[in-house]
Amino acid sequence: MTQLLPNYLAGQWQTGTDAGTTLRDPVLGTDLVRVSSAGLDLAAGFDHARRVGGPALRALSYAQRAALLGRVAEVLQANRDAYFEIATANSGTTQTDSAIDIDGGIFTLSYYARQGQKLGDGHYLPDGDDVRLAKDEAFQTRHIQTPLRGVALFINAFNFPSWGLWEKAAPALLSGVPVVIKPATATAWLTQRMVADVIEAGILPPGALSIVCGSPAGLLEAVAGFDLVSFTGSTDTAATIRMNDNVARQHVRINAEADSLNSAILGPDATPGTPAFDLLVKEVVREMTGKAGQKCTAIRRIFVPESVADAAAEAIAAQLARIKVGNPRNPEVRMGSLASHAQQRSVLEGLAVLQRDAETVYAGNPADLIDASADVGAFVMPHLLRVRDADTNQTVHDHEVFGPVATLVPYRDEAHAVALAQRGLGSLVSSLYGDDPQWLGRMAVALADTHGRVHVITPAVGKTHTGHGNVMPMSVHGGPGRAGGGEELGGMRALALYHRRTAVQAHTDVLGALPA
Ligand code: NAP
Repeated sequence: MTQLLPNYLAGQWQTGTDAGTTLRDPVLGTDLVRVSSAGLDLAAGFDHARRVGGPALRALSYAQRAALLGRVAEVLQANRDAYFEIATANSGTTQTDSAIDIDGGIFTLSYYARQGQKLGDGHYLPDGDDVRLAKDEAFQTRHIQTPLRGVALFINAFNFPSWGLWEKAAPALLSGVPVVIKPATATAWLTQRMVADVIEAGILPPGALSIVCGSPAGLLEAVAGFDLVSFTGSTDTAATIRMNDNVARQHVRINAEADSLNSAILGPDATPGTPAFDLLVKEVVREMTGKAGQKCTAIRRIFVPESVADAAAEAIAAQLARIKVGNPRNPEVRMGSLASHAQQRSVLEGLAVLQRDAETVYAGNPADLIDASADVGAFVMPHLLRVRDADTNQTVHDHEVFGPVATLVPYRDEAHAVALAQRGLGSLVSSLYGDDPQWLGRMAVALADTHGRVHVITPAVGKTHTGHGNVMPMSVHGGPGRAGGGEELGGMRALALYHRRTAVQAHTDVLGALPA
């Protein structure tokens, strides 16, 4: 039997009481480790985090907590090699793709460690200026933001076992809020190992960081009114969380990042042969194949002017044909497998749905796999599809296929391009390609109310931009509508989720006497 990974709850390592679920290598099909949350006293664990972890964190200032984040980042950096091995084995990712997750997590922690220093020695955050309330000029209102008294429960998706934890935990811990992480079962090993390393290093106060691996059963019943659930995953699970009786009755704060039909839009000036056209082709191929398309931000829909649809299809297909797919341990390989056989099944089913209404322009051949077997590994080859009639096809706007699949959709004019992007009913990101600032500026504003981020790529930033799919801690991440309606990151904006705003109404002398 493989090792059963312990959970860390109530300040103790605790092993589940059943055989648990086996995590597998999606390339080789071998068993790796097991996880189980059976028999855990979740109520006691959450209580410990609230009673012990919260007060200990909140006794520290923002700058002191920021310093702890810096030390956590150092521990992770020191153990980086082990994380890459786990990622290759459990997620089937190449070194470059594992780095997006592992180094992305460490980078985000380091960012909050640096920025948090600037918040200084206080224990709550100011929120705007004092405002006079009455005839008496001295009677004023001051808003302050204090850290939540409860626990932040993170329920995460399988595709970012590292970054998914730290992009949430960094602002939560900096805010003074203890964290319980429940990673997705399929890839929980990396999260568990990182948490184990941080606990072992003894950096954080007791109760500040806990982990529950395996079944989520009972977690939503363990949260209480001052807690927060931050969820990343599918719309169906987000709905289950929102409709959970305990969560609803206790008005538990919820943040959700869910499905998203992101897009790339080629400007009318970006004709074939222009640098902007080439930039779109490059970015689309990178987004389709990076992490085998398993990024919530990946480009799923490619909107191009009707007149260049053939040229765009040809150029993207030609680049896709050069991507070597196979065993991520082979340095030639650019794209590994999907994270699990369940994901492979889900992507193949989704692809078949899209193919009912769209033609296949390019499909990689499984016979070209390098050092891997299509019968054993959870591989899906890159597929580029094309919609003939943009007005009648709705599937491409409704159906997120979480793999190396994207669909070209030709548009007539500017208004048509915006309307098509909006048919995704709320997305994390859209990227624009062109060299006409007026068109790009108009499009960015027109797309803003249905998108969390608009990423504009002109030749001037062709070499320096941060990538359509890369979530940078300085910019907000999240999106309205189908994308879950949540918001994370965005520099210090992220701290708002972990604080409560209160209006203190008093005489100026009293406001001046509020402790820091
Ligand atoms: P999922 O099936 O919804 O699972 C997400 C998490 O929810 C897992 O930890 C899962 O645990 C847990 N879970 C499942 N049922 C639950 C329940 N009844 N109560 C509480 N927790 C429950 O999603 P996934 O397949 O891991 O992720 C793929 C989806 O995530 C895609 O649709 C993608 O778009 C989305 N995603 C969005 C973002 C974003 O930032 N917007 C980022 C990444 C992924 P188990 O694993 O143990 O079942």
